Amino acid sequence: MRFNFEDCHSTPVQTMTSNNAPFGDMPADEFRRYGHRLVERLAEYFEHIEELPVLSQNEYGRLKDALPAAPPDKGEDFSDVLDDVDTLIMPAVTHWNHPNFHGFFSTSASSVGIFADMFAAAFDMKAMLWRAAPASAELEDVVLDWLRQMTHLPETFEGIIYDTASVSTMHAVAAARERACSISRELGLSGRDDVPLMRVYASEHVHSSIDKGVITLGLGTRSLRKIESDEAFRMIPQKLAEAIEDDLADGYQPICVIPTIGTTSTSSVDPVERVADICERYGIWMHVDAAYAGSAAILPEMSGHFKGWERADSIVMNPHKWLFTPFDLSVLYCRDLEALKTAFSLVPEYLRTNDLSNVKNGMDYGIQLGRRFRALKLWFAIRYFGVEGMQARLREHCRLARLLADKVEASSDWELAADVPFALVCFRTRKEGLTNEQQDTLTGKILERVNSSGGAFLSHTKLNGRFAIRLSVGSIRVEERHITRVWKLLNDAFREEAKVYE
Ligand code: PLP
Repeated sequence: MRFNFEDCHSTPVQTMTSNNAPFGDMPADEFRRYGHRLVERLAEYFEHIEELPVLSQNEYGRLKDALPAAPPDKGEDFSDVLDDVDTLIMPAVTHWNHPNFHGFFSTSASSVGIFADMFAAAFDMKAMLWRAAPASAELEDVVLDWLRQMTHLPETFEGIIYDTASVSTMHAVAAARERACSISRELGLSGRDDVPLMRVYASEHVHSSIDKGVITLGLGTRSLRKIESDEAFRMIPQKLAEAIEDDLADGYQPICVIPTIGTTSTSSVDPVERVADICERYGIWMHVDAAYAGSAAILPEMSGHFKGWERADSIVMNPHKWLFTPFDLSVLYCRDLEALKTAFSLVPEYLRTNDLSNVKNGMDYGIQLGRRFRALKLWFAIRYFGVEGMQARLREHCRLARLLADKVEASSDWELAADVPFALVCFRTRKEGLTNEQQDTLTGKILERVNSSGGAFLSHTKLNGRFAIRLSVGSIRVEERHITRVWKLLNDAFREEAKVYE
């Protein structure tokens, strides 16, 4: 796939190109011509994406070695830069938008989301003060209220957009810390012996972003107490209650509990309702990590997985994971958004305005001052697909995941390693006569073979010490034939790798 950009220049290539003019940006006519070509090229990219290896086949350092170590003194023809995208950048791209990208959590960048990001880059607004970016501030409020309605959360929840779930959760824990110890904002935690050890609780399957959050907030990893899970990888509420009692007896201060709906390894669902009972009993902030599965709350038939989340103090969900919104867009909903403001609002003189007191300034709700115009891409996606269109796509992903799970269950070579509540399937080999260790080695070898083939990309996890392949279905382009294809790749790889044991 190559594209010719030569005729996009406003001046002949041999003479001075517009980028070597002493001032100003690319002329409008050149921008227009490149822009048209670029969109054509992206359309071709999506049309032909299945011909590309999902996982970049570059070895480490190949791209770096191919690029000049120093920047150019003079501007270059932009067509040369774009040629380098074809020849140098493309081979180093792992194609997250490929329908056979099943690793981590498959993402779902929609075309309208890409258009929105083009607008956002063109406007280049920094949504810190309402005045600085009214479009972003007001659209964010509207679109997050739409999403709240779509996910059946009560009106008491108000949202704010951050980049990632890691950042959303860090802010939620900061608000919880502020509520538990209101002078920590001023006095901090270091150099004080009047502050008890604060505790944050989550299951042993919680995402590593929680560990990073407590590190960032100066609570330290010792503040994070991981609660045992049951055989289905769900937090055991009784163990949580015992841990809290233990900690209180030791003089510690429980500040936050983080149940997960859709854990990273298996998409298991913690018993949020029972966790909410415990949080209410002890007056502890409950933050629900629904970064992956939160999108599935738009499906009424999934409501059982979300029981009790409406009792949370805060909830994170990532439309950039499973709601057709290109990276990055994470939403933090809070029952009382003022708690974030209490933790973070700080207005220096140069940011004071005469705006009305009820104006919402994004900078008051977190550590970032300037914020990208992210709401646009979620607004575009919801309007383009409609709630029903989004529901249909999520349902199809869940159906395809179930289809694969059924194939695994029906096969004598494979077994499921976890339940499949959403669209993630965890499985491993069960070749007769092999020890668990040999099964793990075999499963790992199969994964490597499939990934290096370029035909699909899957990732892995460890469950109860055993290796398992994770296959996530979530690309907006995925169809049943892609699941058939990855199943064939897995079984071909099985036959090759199992020869060692025959
Ligand atoms: N929480 C869960 C359950 C996740 O699965 C992930 C990422 O996969 C995260 C949090 C972190 O997401 P982000 O990359 O948006 O920080």
